Amino acid sequence: MIEEILNKENLNKSDIINLLNSDGDDLQLLFDYSTKIKNKYIGNKVHLRGIIEYSNICSKNCYYCGIRKDNENVNRYILSEEEVIEASKFAYHNGYGSIVIQTGELQSENNTKKIEKLLKEIKSLSDNKLGITLSCGEQTEEVYKRWFDAGAHRYLLRIESSDKELYEKLHPNNKLHSWQTRVNCLYALKNIGYQVGTGVMIGLPFQTNEHLADDILFMKNLDIDMCGMGPYIEHEDTPLFQYKNNLLSLNERLELSLKMLSVLRIVMKNINIAATTALQAISTKGREDAIRIAANVVMPNITPVLYRENYKLYENKPGINEDCEDSIKSITRLVQNAECEISFSEWGDSKRFKNREK
Ligand code: SAH
Ligand code: SF4
Repeated sequence: MIEEILNKENLNKSDIINLLNSDGDDLQLLFDYSTKIKNKYIGNKVHLRGIIEYSNICSKNCYYCGIRKDNENVNRYILSEEEVIEASKFAYHNGYGSIVIQTGELQSENNTKKIEKLLKEIKSLSDNKLGITLSCGEQTEEVYKRWFDAGAHRYLLRIESSDKELYEKLHPNNKLHSWQTRVNCLYALKNIGYQVGTGVMIGLPFQTNEHLADDILFMKNLDIDMCGMGPYIEHEDTPLFQYKNNLLSLNERLELSLKMLSVLRIVMKNINIAATTALQAISTKGREDAIRIAANVVMPNITPVLYRENYKLYENKPGINEDCEDSIKSITRLVQNAECEISFSEWGDSKRFKNREK
């Protein structure tokens, strides 16, 4: 039965649910098929994005996240300009084609200006050669445009769940946490000309495979350029922790995440898909398997080690004590194990974006 689904031109919701439910030989067929698609449309190159966790100060209270505003057990930090520049230089001199600046969400002129300045400096220190992705949450269209003009060309903003009702169970009920605003932000980013990435957490409380199938169709409908998605991992200082006994096991969440990556690769053949760090938090083979079957992007952490302990979105986050040199060594190994190759000093833009531009 699964072969019939895999041979279809367009997968509908029930096809995707069937694929997400597959196991045994069928699951192997699914993974083999997405590997083939990946090799055909993307090849075996894996792009690096050095991630800088700029600040854990956040104005929001997402129920799943360890650095939410109301968690008082977090030492809050913001990297200095010099620290961000140093990390960017490290990325540039070590052949990482791009960096990602990720941070808690702050909507203030002060924060906007600081990021604007950093973008310009990073562009200039790298002779315009380092690609820059931002992951700084919801902002006005004007702020997104200022950052775009200052040199950012990709933006990651996960929808978290494409189902409004489920989204509302995962966030406080107030204006700061509106599903519609998030959708509007994604469209604003596209209008400005960013390569846009979104994604979801997998294995959330209340989430079903129907929701996940809708998530894939949401991404297709939005015609995204990039995706970062991975398992939800509970954090004890968050409201969602109370549902910890109703979740899939960690291994089941990992397997379901790999299925989602595999199906997404089949549905959106030429986008960039990241092997996220959360996959690695469950199994050392998590990211390796993701790269083998679907992903073509990895994000080595280049945040100064001193701060990493404080950027814990979820528990067991790997690489807290690993310095940048070790991190690239372990990534080189896992890419090789997945029979792929790192592509150094290239932006590695989404092929879907490039094709659309023509
Ligand atoms: N503040 C920005 C960027 C930092 S959070 C934003 O929210 O977009 C980046 C991502 O971490 C979120 O989109 C969310 O999907 C993920 N995340 C947060 N808590 C998590 C958890 N407990 N398990 C897995 N992923 C989590
Ligand atoms: Fe803040 Fe992002 Fe965490 Fe939400 S997910 S609390 S916006 S850092």
